[in-house]
Amino acid sequence: MRTAIIGGGIAGLAAAFELEKARASGATVEYTLFEARERLGGSLSSEIADGAVLERGPDSFLSEKTAAAELCRELGLGADLLPSNDAARKTYILVKNRLVALPDGLMFLVPTKLIPTALTGLFSFTTKVRMGLELLHPPRPSDEDEAVATLVARHFGAEAVDRLADPLLSGIFGGDATQLSARTVLPRLVEMESEYGSLTRGMLAAHRKMRAKAKEAAKNNGAGSGNVQSGSNGRPAARSIFTSLRGGMQQLIDALAARLDAGRVRLGTPVSGLERIEGGWKVVAGGEAEFYDAVIVASPAWAAGVLLGPVDAALGEELGGIPYSSSITVNLIYDEARLGRLPDGFGFLVPVSEGRAMLACTFVHRKFLGRTPPGKAVLRAFLGGMKNEALLAEPDDVLVATVRRELKEILGIQAEPEHTQVSRWRRAMAQYAVGHQARIQRINARLAELQGLKLVGNAYDGIGIPDCIRLGRQAARELLASQRAS
Ligand SMILES: Cc1cc2nc3c(=O)[nH]c(=O)nc-3n(C[C@H](O)[C@H](O)[C@H](O)COP(=O)(O)OP(=O)(O)OC[C@H]3O[C@@H](n4cnc5c(N)ncnc54)[C@H](O)[C@@H]3O)c2cc1C
Repeated sequence: MRTAIIGGGIAGLAAAFELEKARASGATVEYTLFEARERLGGSLSSEIADGAVLERGPDSFLSEKTAAAELCRELGLGADLLPSNDAARKTYILVKNRLVALPDGLMFLVPTKLIPTALTGLFSFTTKVRMGLELLHPPRPSDEDEAVATLVARHFGAEAVDRLADPLLSGIFGGDATQLSARTVLPRLVEMESEYGSLTRGMLAAHRKMRAKAKEAAKNNGAGSGNVQSGSNGRPAARSIFTSLRGGMQQLIDALAARLDAGRVRLGTPVSGLERIEGGWKVVAGGEAEFYDAVIVASPAWAAGVLLGPVDAALGEELGGIPYSSSITVNLIYDEARLGRLPDGFGFLVPVSEGRAMLACTFVHRKFLGRTPPGKAVLRAFLGGMKNEALLAEPDDVLVATVRRELKEILGIQAEPEHTQVSRWRRAMAQYAVGHQARIQRINARLAELQGLKLVGNAYDGIGIPDCIRLGRQAARELLASQRAS
């Protein structure tokens, strides 16, 4: 089986890795990975500057989703997996130019502890009363999709959208809570509303179930098993929320690239045409046509839409209709002694209503220990998102000056950074807009008619690195299985 993989981001690389493994173990598999840029990795890219790891794109992945850590272990990077320093985890929200810590007991967007919620400066008295009354909401089963903002406002009011849902989601998707699909982005909350009515009651019930399960697992396995580790107090201790790699996310890309056959990887080679032919696919790249039995399209959906429009107009239109957001990261390395004291914790999020360019700022040296030299601090600002795409056109010095001005106004930082790095990510992050799942069903219906075609990447079933890896590997395995069956 000859397979073309279009796109060398993490999804395409994961697919190639799976095909390479099959090839190396004797299967009759040929593959070519086409990547438009001169480097592999797509959004994953890190560099070492003055001894500090600077992440241009993602800095980690969710530990709860195991596909990424599993792949790292398979690649021999197990010893380099680095948990987030959760003992120091504390996140602030900027409210009227003051940093207010997220209250204890907040489970994603849902308050579960009475006293911290009553005492927090994050919400007004009216919102707090509303949060209390939310416990009385009756179950509300519905099949309709709606925006995250609508769901959250119905339960906790508009202020919770502005100060919680919107900043948290723009930190993950660069997205906009008024556009994102509740059913796709917050499926558990939608289920809880349907079963319990109150999200707070639903979350508490889920938490109780999880704790009972963890206790049971600890009892059955002695000191703790698998995902649940035993804490020093004998209670089950959760694993870290995020996992990264000691040398940065680039380590994963380098390890994957090293496992592929270099002769099968074509950098700087965008695919410009795709055509369905008898028994397979014609792939046009660099003015040359080549023939394959199967194609894994691992480019962003908008690029996939351009390639697949001439093959299937409806599919091309659906793919082109998936919105994307753009973002910017700005890393700044400081001499810690000159920086002044930062608030405890991992950093802060900025609601749109604050009127800032920054959407979030991470105190990198606190979130992942050992990746910044002693005496140095790394701050990483995240800008852009759906509501501020125009920023991408600004030159680097303007973006750095904007970030420095805002850091001075918010944190009082006057010090000059010793090093700065700006990265732009155009149309890199898919947005799961209202109706996303119905769109995916329509896409799958078209794919069922197009033998040997797979779509993978962040546009379909999970935006994060583990989901992209899972989809990439799964697509390759399905093609291998269909080859074995034929
Ligand atoms: C700033 C930022 C921060 C993020 N933070 C996190 C995080 O902390 N944790 C997390 O889990 N996720 C995070 N994400 C999301 C995650 O990084 C992405 O969703 C994921 O890396 C996407 O991988 P992909 O392979 O689907 O796409 P991409 O990485 O976009 O790769 C697609 C590749 O296809 C290539 N391509 C496009 N068209 C063609 C063509 N015609 N021919 C050949 N090649 C083509 C592109 O050049 C690109 O290399 C972040 C994303 C960004 C941008």
